[in-house]
Amino acid sequence: MRLLMDIHGVPWNVAWKITRATMAYTNHTLLPEALEKWSVTLMQRLLPRIMDIIFGINANFMAEVAMHWPGQGERLRSMSIIEEGGGQHVRMAHLALVASFSVNGVAQLHTQLLQQGLFRDFYELWPHKFNNKTNGVTPRRWLAGCNPELAHLITEVIGKGWITDLSQLKKLEPYANDVNFRNRWRNIKQSAKERLVTYKKSQHDGDLQLNADALFDVQVKRIHEYKRQLLNVLHVIHLYDRIKRGDTHNWVSRCVLIGGKAAPGYLMAKKIIKFINNVSNVINSDPQVGDKLTLLFLPDYRVSAMEKICTAADLSEQISTAGKEASGTGNMKLMMNGAITIGTLDGANIEIREEVGDDNFFLFGLTEEQIVARRNHYDPLAIIDMDDDLQRVIHLIESSHFNQFEPHIFDDLINSIKCPHDPWMTIADFRSYIDAQKRVEDAYRDKDHWTRMSILNCANSGKFSTDRTINEYNNDIWKLTPQPVKHK
Ligand SMILES: *Cc1c(COP(=O)(O)O)cnc(C)c1O
Repeated sequence: MRLLMDIHGVPWNVAWKITRATMAYTNHTLLPEALEKWSVTLMQRLLPRIMDIIFGINANFMAEVAMHWPGQGERLRSMSIIEEGGGQHVRMAHLALVASFSVNGVAQLHTQLLQQGLFRDFYELWPHKFNNKTNGVTPRRWLAGCNPELAHLITEVIGKGWITDLSQLKKLEPYANDVNFRNRWRNIKQSAKERLVTYKKSQHDGDLQLNADALFDVQVKRIHEYKRQLLNVLHVIHLYDRIKRGDTHNWVSRCVLIGGKAAPGYLMAKKIIKFINNVSNVINSDPQVGDKLTLLFLPDYRVSAMEKICTAADLSEQISTAGKEASGTGNMKLMMNGAITIGTLDGANIEIREEVGDDNFFLFGLTEEQIVARRNHYDPLAIIDMDDDLQRVIHLIESSHFNQFEPHIFDDLINSIKCPHDPWMTIADFRSYIDAQKRVEDAYRDKDHWTRMSILNCANSGKFSTDRTINEYNNDIWKLTPQPVKHK
């Protein structure tokens, strides 16, 4: 608007028409901390002309809302680009909604929640603006590039068309029934696990024992309470507790890998990292545990680390509180490389499960609707009271078993999950998660069955290519003419 009017001399109405026909808004999260609000006084000082234009846009917008809903002052207040009270603030998401011809979320559930929740009024006013574009990942990096052995095997049996048309992976499905193919698939996963072990040993100082025959249980993503790395650790402590009390009949050895960075100012996230490391130290140095269970924190998580990790994962942990993960893309990278998901009905997990089928996905946890309904009467202490396994886990943590020489460092972490107002409701999903992990063990004991599931996960990951995503953006929003790629 500023460039069109002030630099190119276009009048307001024309500039607004061009702007509104040009801008498209993709929302990436529902978490309020990611929806920016900027102080009007700050903007008036630093960007006075921009602030003038925003006021102008808002005045016109408020007139439009008033015409659509006469006499509804509350609606004007809640939809306004300017938030009143406690000093005025510019709601950047509202500005984007008003100025764009298209608004999209990044997975079906996320888009549905935008329409019913955060942007409900805007959806009522402009339903035609809203659309979904489920995220994807590029198969060039996340399969062909990072996993050349698996890529060669796939190409050998179905040709190389999958690299630019990932839906062709579906042709792998019949090979899930081929013993010889399954053995080759399993050997490739095994050598990826061994490579990751060697890489980790070279990073670690010396004495790290990692068993490449164990189930590689992987959760790699930014550290955040909604992603519930803590739920994962509660399960690890439960397994440790089972070993300590001798409940190890038919044991499936596990190597639990948790990786991720915490934002610099996010104290709770840093405490979660400290907690993972402390639990890891206790478990990994206990001779009674041996290689039945290993917990490892992977520092310095980044794309180049994920390129190694995703090839070696057996199990993909996607355990966020339902309704909080907009899409997730780590889930797609891991699926593409033959990991099986244990997950909640959140973000793109829902679509992953639709593609691969319920038999090849370990589902657990409350749904988004159940989470909302439960909030009013959530009583974690009562849940702990009723669940012996959970009681033992909480007792171990509260007895300072993992912080013997660092008193009270995990107090606020414990309090956060025991609080009835815990927004992430970790305790609510504990039992269901533990039961799903038991089903994981049953499945992993039958190596042939597991490998079949692994192949089917890869075979049904075609939807999660960015090629599909980008084509949808272009067909529905950008309307550009595709140019043929010229190969040199
Ligand atoms: C894929 C990826 C992410 C996103 O992971 P989610 O599990 O979807 O949150 C974050 N960081 C890195 C380095 C990644 O490769």
